[in-house]
Amino acid sequence: MAKKATAKKFVYFFGNGKADGNRNMKDLLGGKGSGLAEMTNAGLPVPPGFTISTEVCNIYYQQKSKVPPAIDREIADHVKKLEKAAGATLGSTDNPLLVSVRSGAKFSMPGMMDTILNLGLNDRAVEGLKARTKNGRFSYDSYRRFIQMFGNVVLEIPKEAFEHEFEAVKKSSGAKMDTDLDESALRQVVDRYKGVVRAKARRDFPQDPHEQLEMARNAVFRSWMNARAIEYRRIYDIPDHIGTAVNVQMMVFGNTGDRSGTGVGFTRNPATGAKEFYGEFLINAQGEDVVAGIRTPQPIRELEQVMPKAYKQLREITTRLERHYKDVQDFEFTIQDERLFMLQTRSGKRTGFAAVVIATDLVAEKLITPKEAILLVDPESLNQLLAPGFDPVEWKKIPTATKGLPASPGAASGHVVFSADHAVEWAKQGKPVILVRRETVPDDIHGMFVAQGILTATGGMTSHAAVVGRQMGKPSVVGAGALEINEAGKQFRVNGQTVKEGDFISFDGLSGEVKIARVASKPSEILQVVNGTLSPKKSDLYRRFDQLLTWSDKFRRLGIRANADLPDQAELAYAFGARGIGLCRTEHMFFGEGRIPIVQQMILADNEADRRKALDKLLPLQRDDFYGVFKGMHGCPVTIRTIDPPLHEFLPKREDLMVDVAKLEAAGKSGRELDEKRTLLARVEQLHEFNPMLGHRGVRLGITYPESTEMQTRAIIEAASRLGKEGVKVVPEIMIPLVGMVKELRDQKIIVDRIAADVMKEQGVKIKYLVGTMIEVPRGAMTADEVASEAQFFSFGTNDLTQLTFGFSRDDVGKFLRIYQDKKILERDPFASIDVDGVGKIVAIAVELGRKARKDLKLGICGEHGGDPASIHFFEKVGLDYVSMSPYRVPVARLAAAQAALSVKHGD
Ligand code: PEP
Ligand code: MG
Repeated sequence: MAKKATAKKFVYFFGNGKADGNRNMKDLLGGKGSGLAEMTNAGLPVPPGFTISTEVCNIYYQQKSKVPPAIDREIADHVKKLEKAAGATLGSTDNPLLVSVRSGAKFSMPGMMDTILNLGLNDRAVEGLKARTKNGRFSYDSYRRFIQMFGNVVLEIPKEAFEHEFEAVKKSSGAKMDTDLDESALRQVVDRYKGVVRAKARRDFPQDPHEQLEMARNAVFRSWMNARAIEYRRIYDIPDHIGTAVNVQMMVFGNTGDRSGTGVGFTRNPATGAKEFYGEFLINAQGEDVVAGIRTPQPIRELEQVMPKAYKQLREITTRLERHYKDVQDFEFTIQDERLFMLQTRSGKRTGFAAVVIATDLVAEKLITPKEAILLVDPESLNQLLAPGFDPVEWKKIPTATKGLPASPGAASGHVVFSADHAVEWAKQGKPVILVRRETVPDDIHGMFVAQGILTATGGMTSHAAVVGRQMGKPSVVGAGALEINEAGKQFRVNGQTVKEGDFISFDGLSGEVKIARVASKPSEILQVVNGTLSPKKSDLYRRFDQLLTWSDKFRRLGIRANADLPDQAELAYAFGARGIGLCRTEHMFFGEGRIPIVQQMILADNEADRRKALDKLLPLQRDDFYGVFKGMHGCPVTIRTIDPPLHEFLPKREDLMVDVAKLEAAGKSGRELDEKRTLLARVEQLHEFNPMLGHRGVRLGITYPESTEMQTRAIIEAASRLGKEGVKVVPEIMIPLVGMVKELRDQKIIVDRIAADVMKEQGVKIKYLVGTMIEVPRGAMTADEVASEAQFFSFGTNDLTQLTFGFSRDDVGKFLRIYQDKKILERDPFASIDVDGVGKIVAIAVELGRKARKDLKLGICGEHGGDPASIHFFEKVGLDYVSMSPYRVPVARLAAAQAALSVKHGD
């Protein structure tokens, strides 16, 4: 009965074919809760229960780990309702209700939070369970499992304390396997476990099921803030404030004997995307046993032989769920005495390969539209399709040491490490590592994140290592049972060989083969097609990839350009689908072969005449560069930026020169070499700056050395003219960096226009070109209307704009960023994902001011944020014309831009 004080609903019931919630309530009920509600409403066999909403989790934290009495009463009402639906009562001595208490946030966080099974058992109820099931062994096994789980999760007693007692009983009763223990041995285990609780928690094991429930609920809330859950959210950008729901559900038992079991599965293969029923199960086991990776389960197909009826029903239900949700489902089930129960359904996590295959297959099967397919693929996951694989010839040469289950595709090669902490340590030193574990546990998340790949000895395709590996897009091979791992001794043995920490191994996550060697890799299939070394006809994966991106192009509004400095980069970007260059950093061309001495000559010149001499030598080289880049872009727009970085980047280091001079002097040398070094050092001293990033760079160079802008303009227009004569029309966009004042731009524009006019006259051609600026200095943004009076386009340089807005040096921010993130001062790295509230606001102001002053002002972004999906979403919102990013990120950006257009249109 609803009471006045609980007018706002915090608890949602599901059972007997009807649920208070539904699939659209993930925010409130979490993924698991909303799935259970939806399945109940669809008439599927779901044990009854209720979901305590995510809001209660937040209230629990706001009210210093307390839940208000009104919500407690609402929960108590739902317990009664559940008892009625289940036909059993908590703590009853003849028909006890047992429940599971499980976490469930909006986004799935596999294994990161806590779960308690078999809650409701106590010294009396266990006898009730025995009476009902006529199975004393099962009843006492459930009770000991409950005390162990509750003791560990709720009372925070280390697992080992229980394991120690368990082993002692096993030994004294001569049992080899856990299942060899009979009822009386399990009773002993229960007694010993209660002793452990008394000793470690300094209290008796709680006998009141209501108290058990309250404690378990609070423990699940607490687990939202455990270290591994926090780390997981950090990696996946899941906000802390959303909280977890708690699902309390009637237990069904997969461990009542050989006609029972439990399993998990996917409606399609989550590693490859193949349309096949996929998963595994264990006979006579409880849910946690499958995911924990302790016993290697059987493939789900074998269930057909063992329990054909339940298998058929499971196939029917899961196929229905896939059609209903229009996406691959990841499901959990339990069979109790041949009766099937569904315990979970949710969108299945998948690798990038699988995502593309599944999205294109679902469209072909007419289950979804291309628009829906676009929304089904995480743009970042496309990167996995571009990662290199092993060179097949090299790979075949090396013998296979063992084969495990191919849990997540990709080629991994690296030094063996046996702990997550070591993985992090080694990775920090820039070493590629492979994390080798008997099985991974949620606490390993930080090590898995930095590893090239994950290899385990036990566990199946849905074990922790497999699920998390796939989600991270890390190559993973699991259940390689031949590995004899000695984690403490930091080595493993396989096939007669001993492999120590630091040794090199390689494995293929698609075949499961493991080899003890370092193996050379080969470009991905997609890249081979893009590079023209493989025909698209021969690559099913490429065709699907291309199909998805072609659909994306239909829905996106933002143009896609690339940041490319060299002709081959331009070609690659074009082949990936970029239609323009948003930033050509001309100074990168200065590093080309044989050019540095000329560049140094230019910089070291202390008068204009000498500088011009050096610039004259650079002119033909730059002209060829620009010609190549224009050509690589097949006539699409190309934005070329005049020289930008501080000049010292091209000079020898001051400290090195000092050492050289000192050495020559100490050796008593004199003559030309010493003189030259001294002169060089003197000029380098002269050019030395305390804050080069805020110093003599960007437009300031063009203003102080106008002959440099002259040379670059000449090279650009001459290259365009040459191409024009070959029949390719290009419209160069000349971009002046780091402008903060309109007068700076005006100064440079006069030079550009003068030289362009000269060249056109000399060549007898007319070339359309644009002059614009980067908006990367806050003053430039705030006076964008003035700047726009001289600029035909703006390109937001969000790297410098972020640096100058925060006052964080982009080169030094790494020293404190992590601490800022840990302390929640910053959620994300603002150099990777745009800071919407600060830098974004400045961008929005500049867009508005700029467009007001010049209606046809072209607007783009070429900072690193141009390839970041979340930032692309923001740039869609503020209405930029294009985003520009590194060539390899073009596919990610095409998809992200389509998703942004679709969601922004929907008023997101
Ligand atoms: C920027 O500042 O965002 C930019 C693209 O320029 P650079 O990174 O070369 O300074
Ligand atoms: Mg910049």
